[in-house]
Amino acid sequence: MTVRDDLRALEGYHSPQVDVRVRLNTNEAPTPPPTAWRDAFAAELSRVEWHRYPDRSAAALRSAIADSHHVRSDQVFAANGSNEVLQTLLLAAQPGLLVVDEAYGQFADWSALTMIDESTPLVVTRTFSKTWSMAASRLGYVIGPSWLIAELDKVALPYHLDAAKQIAGRLALQFTDDMDARVAQIVSERERIAATLGTLDLEVFPSGANFILFRPRNKPGRQVWQELLDRSILIRDCSGWPRLTDCLRVTVGTPEENDEFLQAIREIVQ
Ligand SMILES: *Cc1c(COP(=O)(O)O)cnc(C)c1O
Repeated sequence: MTVRDDLRALEGYHSPQVDVRVRLNTNEAPTPPPTAWRDAFAAELSRVEWHRYPDRSAAALRSAIADSHHVRSDQVFAANGSNEVLQTLLLAAQPGLLVVDEAYGQFADWSALTMIDESTPLVVTRTFSKTWSMAASRLGYVIGPSWLIAELDKVALPYHLDAAKQIAGRLALQFTDDMDARVAQIVSERERIAATLGTLDLEVFPSGANFILFRPRNKPGRQVWQELLDRSILIRDCSGWPRLTDCLRVTVGTPEENDEFLQAIREIVQ
């Protein structure tokens, strides 16, 4: 076969997309973006010149992202999800660059963004997938020193960001209040879930994100995961991950989904 041997030895990324009633396994936002965003997006989409390539530098999107972080446009590079941002960084960087992945940055009370300047080899990646309720759009970005950002443009594929995505991201940044409210709601639900889990026979790890990691004490993690799935509740089985023996991870969902999860886990581990 004309496929790389080292590739065939690798497993690939797996997060099962099973059809269940309560899906709390991939850290998506539990609710969609606001209707006003959807309407504005549809209106702009209808005006796209589809026979033309999109703006290669994504100038309007970059400028909107830059404004939201009080940095300059030349300190911002956007790509198809922060995963592509990371891939682009790997194509461009030599050892010595520190990358801080802040996919869950808005849920935490600290950010490395304050440490970005022109003389420090440090970058911060962010995504629209989690806090912005836009996992379907596949959009992420990195903030860093302008001399490094300029090199990322050279290794990215030409026109890598399509017109629809540039519009989606730029418009989302006009709904920051909505995003902040959603984050506050998720953080308060997270604390409620953590407090309840803390009363059960589980080890609960502190979280600054939209998920909670925990380890059942009286049953194997994998068995607890299966018993939840039997009740049509899907969470993430991390029990086979390095240093996470028996650990499971639940995404913060809507209050109703969280109630269903808490009731089920109480029955399963009591
Ligand atoms: C969800 C997540 C991301 C986001 O990836 P996208 O490609 O932007 O969807 C990045 N890093 C971590 C650790 C994540 O959990």
